[in-house]
Amino acid sequence: MPTGFEYAPAPESRAVVDIASSYGLFVGGEFVDPADGASFKTVNPATGERLSDVAEAGAADVDAAVRAARRAYTRVWGPMSGAERGKYLFRIARILQERAREFAVLETLDNGKPIKESRDVDIPLAAAHFFYHAGWADKLEYAGLTTSARPTPLGVIGQVIPWNFPLLMLAWKIAPALATGNTVVLKPAETTPLTALLFAQVCQQADLPAGVVNIVTGAGATGQALTEHPDVDKIAFTGSTDVGKQIARTIAGTRKRLTLELGGKGANIVYDDAAIDQAVEGIVSGIYFNQGHVCCAGSRLLVQESVADDVVRRLQRRLGTLRVGDPMDKNTDVGAINSAEQLARITALVGAGEAEGATRWSAPCELPDRGYWFAPTIFTDVSQAHRVAQEEIFGPVLSVLTFRTPAEAVAKANNTPYGLSAGIWSDKGSRVLWTADRLRAGVVWANSFNKFDPTSPFGGYKESGYGREAGRHGLEAYVAAGSED
Ligand code: NDP
Repeated sequence: MPTGFEYAPAPESRAVVDIASSYGLFVGGEFVDPADGASFKTVNPATGERLSDVAEAGAADVDAAVRAARRAYTRVWGPMSGAERGKYLFRIARILQERAREFAVLETLDNGKPIKESRDVDIPLAAAHFFYHAGWADKLEYAGLTTSARPTPLGVIGQVIPWNFPLLMLAWKIAPALATGNTVVLKPAETTPLTALLFAQVCQQADLPAGVVNIVTGAGATGQALTEHPDVDKIAFTGSTDVGKQIARTIAGTRKRLTLELGGKGANIVYDDAAIDQAVEGIVSGIYFNQGHVCCAGSRLLVQESVADDVVRRLQRRLGTLRVGDPMDKNTDVGAINSAEQLARITALVGAGEAEGATRWSAPCELPDRGYWFAPTIFTDVSQAHRVAQEEIFGPVLSVLTFRTPAEAVAKANNTPYGLSAGIWSDKGSRVLWTADRLRAGVVWANSFNKFDPTSPFGGYKESGYGREAGRHGLEAYVAAGSED
């Protein structure tokens, strides 16, 4: 007797992308070999298959990239009018849309995220960031950025990004920097360099002046060489709190500016008057979207005690319907963990949760036998002191805590070194606003979670970093007050 309908496979074709067997660095508008010829491989985390060899930039290569960016800033991009800069950004945005399918497939192959997410979230949002900032390029004087002063660019910006949203993080960094008249040297994460290199081709296609965007691939040492370079005017970093602290130490005492988007341990608060089924969907998108590799993930569920059993039961039932597996299948909900290292980190923290006495439940799903995978997991019986309630797991793992009163919910939500995001689920607007006012988090979603828009500023409190990205506030991070005239 069949028990229900099965999904037929719905694989996206990879024929639309053309992956070269090796890539150079993108410096001064051209792909060049690294000075010492070093390279590393990038793999498909869903299969372990090698996708390509990518150049590893050393200090000399980073220096060449910074010099190219400085030349472009001084000679071309800095003096160019905002209206002209805006045209290039519009052109890049349109090309991203035209080549969206190619970008989505490449992102999924290199990162392991489900194709429906790269197709419907990452790539459209990346294009939207360029459109949004293109519109600002000739209106900066009216953006109300610095009181009655003409905003001027900072110069050469060094940008270091992580592997969880490779093209989207690139867009968050490059679009505002270019719109405000700066030039950039960007280092993508070691495990996900391919869409940044395809973006370099888009810059060529858009005839962007040479040196305005430079891409230096490599590992932590490449990022460090960039942050230490004396001719960089500002560093913009997204990644772990540990590396963010190292970078802050490196540039302390220099004239460089710094913005940091770091880790999080977001609280998702469900009151007893919430629409429970909607809340369950929000919990799922809060922590299982992108395999939980999300800095603003709702990784701590705070649920009012009277509805806790019901919420957890419905959540388990919902997780049982998530499809975990081939990221290239259009029906897949949860894809591959990005790397063996990240899988080891998740496994170790989940082990710590079990050892400390929390109760583990994992969705009963069959995991592929090659590649890196972790089943959607829930911890109950979690106390605030448990590592799974304090540390960023950065995987599909939810820790459930309970509360009795709104004051207790707020106290527990704020009991974290981080302060990036939070969610509130309630039928009552006054309760939502009362709670939101008291949460120490940069973004608070009400009856929703993980919603992004280029017009809306994003950033953290406490160890989640400082500075804002997107919206008018995001422009502020890339300009200095100019003279009044
Ligand atoms: P990292 O912070 O190490 O990586 C972020 C970026 O910084 C990468 O491009 C990385 O290069 C680069 N980098 C590493 N070391 C340095 C350095 N000393 N100076 C300058 N740049 C450097 O994150 P991981 O990938 O190691 O992930 C570790 C943990 O961090 C995760 O488990 C997760 O908890 C958290 N994380 C949080 C993110 C967030 O958005 N909040 C994003 C990513 C991770 P490379 O890729 O070569 O290491």
